[in-house]
Amino acid sequence: MFKRLRNDFQLSIIALMGIIGVLGISPYAIYRLLHGNYLVGIADCIIVFSTIAAVIYAWRTGDTEKPGLYLCAVFSVGATLIAINLGVNGLFWIYPLILFNFFMVSPGKAIVASLLVLTSLVAHSIWVPGSVFDSHYQMVSFLVTNAMAGVLTFIFAYRTRTQRDQLQVLAIHDPLTGARNRRAMNEELKIAVSSQRRHGRQYGVLVLDLDHFKQINDQHGHHTGDLVLVEFVELIKNHSRKEDRLFRFGGEEFLLLLPDTDPQGLKTAADHLRECISTHLRSPGGMVTVSIGGAMLRRNETWSHWLQRADQCLYQAKSSGRNRCIIDSSQEALNAVAAGK
Ligand code: GH3
Ligand code: MG
Ligand code: MG
Repeated sequence: MFKRLRNDFQLSIIALMGIIGVLGISPYAIYRLLHGNYLVGIADCIIVFSTIAAVIYAWRTGDTEKPGLYLCAVFSVGATLIAINLGVNGLFWIYPLILFNFFMVSPGKAIVASLLVLTSLVAHSIWVPGSVFDSHYQMVSFLVTNAMAGVLTFIFAYRTRTQRDQLQVLAIHDPLTGARNRRAMNEELKIAVSSQRRHGRQYGVLVLDLDHFKQINDQHGHHTGDLVLVEFVELIKNHSRKEDRLFRFGGEEFLLLLPDTDPQGLKTAADHLRECISTHLRSPGGMVTVSIGGAMLRRNETWSHWLQRADQCLYQAKSSGRNRCIIDSSQEALNAVAAGK
């Protein structure tokens, strides 16, 4: 549980708001209801129950975007109603609301929400003088201090968001070729296995290993080898479907995950890629080729076993002369896929 909260910033903010909402706002809700201020009491209750519902939803589904937007809307409307009803005493809630919005939704949406809240308060105080602010001086001070809090939070939230996005990209990509890395591969293979179990989607995998790559390094240097790897990844990306995912599995070994593919489609894709590499990939020593092993995911198979079968095919492709593809077409494998077992 703590690991999940540590890794998912949005989820931790929603959970934190859940605790603050229940512990911090419920006493006010009870107090207001007992003293007959039903509007504020009910607004407080709606905020508390919405927070609990949003925390449960986010925790169960892993989706933090919708609950974030929902909480931003509920808190903004709730805090505005409370401020209009309580006047200066309610205005204090607007400061944490603005901070919260910037952490919960994208900076653009948070600006819109904050502006709507402030405009509603000012409009109401002009409509009913003395209802929200005691004086114009107080209103201007409130707007200026809120604008300062908003701008500072905007800068902080914007920077945190871009840095987090950059870190996420770095964490799952190989810096040399830009292909996804092994960590991303493990995750995606697990997702493929569970998606097949739940929705019956068919997945194929190809393991690609450059032939005699060591010779390129030995004869032309490591830098040339690197350039060949980069070119290889470009070619595979350009000649596979948009939904196919390429991972760098080891030094010059790659894995291509093909969703919604049948055994024939997997074979065709493998042949096409092998031919494309032997036609277009060049090193100073001449043509570079690739050997490919492939397998369809069987029902109830673990991802490591699936990979192992593709790897065995790659081994056969290597030992039968390289520059060829072998797909696991054992009758057992084909039957299992056809029968959805
Ligand atoms: P085979 O046809 O049997 O696959 O032979 P191979 O030479 O391709 O395979 P081997 O496993 O003997 O050698 C792989 C080489 O890949 C060895 C290693 O130095 C090189 N290599 C691994 N990672 C990188 C890298 O990031 N850059 C470069 N330039 N070379 C790398
Ligand atoms: Mg190799
Ligand atoms: Mg290898």
